[in-house]
Amino acid sequence: MNPFTLISPPSLERALHEFAPGSQWIAGGTNVLDLMKEGVARPGRLIDITGLGLDRIETTEGGGLRLGALAPNADTAWHPLVREGYPLLSAAILAGASPQIRNMATNGGNLLQRTRCVYFYDLGAPCNKREPGTGCPAIGGLSRQHAVLGASERCIATHPSDMCVALAALDAVVHVRSAAGARAIPFGEFHRLPGEDPQRDSTLADGELITHIELPPAERFANHSAYIKVRDRASYAFALVSVAAALEFDAAGAIGAVRVALGGVAHKPWRRTDAEAVLVGQRPSDALFEAAADLLLEGATSQGQNGFKITMARRAITRALSTATAGTPRAGRNDGPGRPDLKEPQ
Ligand code: SF4
Repeated sequence: MNPFTLISPPSLERALHEFAPGSQWIAGGTNVLDLMKEGVARPGRLIDITGLGLDRIETTEGGGLRLGALAPNADTAWHPLVREGYPLLSAAILAGASPQIRNMATNGGNLLQRTRCVYFYDLGAPCNKREPGTGCPAIGGLSRQHAVLGASERCIATHPSDMCVALAALDAVVHVRSAAGARAIPFGEFHRLPGEDPQRDSTLADGELITHIELPPAERFANHSAYIKVRDRASYAFALVSVAAALEFDAAGAIGAVRVALGGVAHKPWRRTDAEAVLVGQRPSDALFEAAADLLLEGATSQGQNGFKITMARRAITRALSTATAGTPRAGRNDGPGRPDLKEPQ
């Protein structure tokens, strides 16, 4: 590991003014420290933000929810307001990582975690994301985990988060601050596709810090949502494909509103409002869900080893929509509150 300095500013304002080129925010450190140990990231200065008071979870005046950037993932998933009002988010968080990691990892850090592409972590391999202009060996190489949608000739990496797939479906807004001021970023505009500059994962500018994530009111989806994650083993594995689905039905049993987002298939959570629009006003059926899946996956392309993801995603989309239609599953069998290695609900 390279030498670095560590500072712990006493206030948000001080932290924002301390940021300079070569600095790196650090909170839970569950990804940043891995990147530093592997030599992928070499910040000269770490700015510890854990004491800035950005860890609250509270309702907003508009009836939504405000998730502090520094609230641990576990506290967020088990918070009563999240479990009752946003069970889709709770399920997605609990599908990720391990209980120990969820206890350390923060909400802001979850959004900013980097791809798990093996070449990105291998300093002996070229990688456009790590060293722009060196190439992408995943194209034609080990591409089983990689993107089938939205990839570029420069990078075919996927975003690894489960939480972000639910946040995309729930129309979250990311609030950020810098020394220059504050701004709000709609979730669909927060992460980016790789394009010509895959080294940039998000639209966050240097020196900007996530303060909180805002969720609009979503009670209408609470009874009909599902997070389906398909992976190589039952826990502690990144998604090959994941689907966050949320539905609202009208009094006649037709779909009144719907959200569907995919994980594991692109450089960002994948969502298409035109695929959702074909469902609205219709009665649920496998044929209808398959039509939406076809639109969501339009343009999906195999990178050699990952063509199976296209069929897998199509089936996962229909399963997620069918599961959500039947009613929101509560407390998964692998993550139930009775397990002693989980934090108890708040
Ligand atoms: Fe690097 Fe992206 Fe290619 Fe992986 S897919 S080797 S992260 S450029």
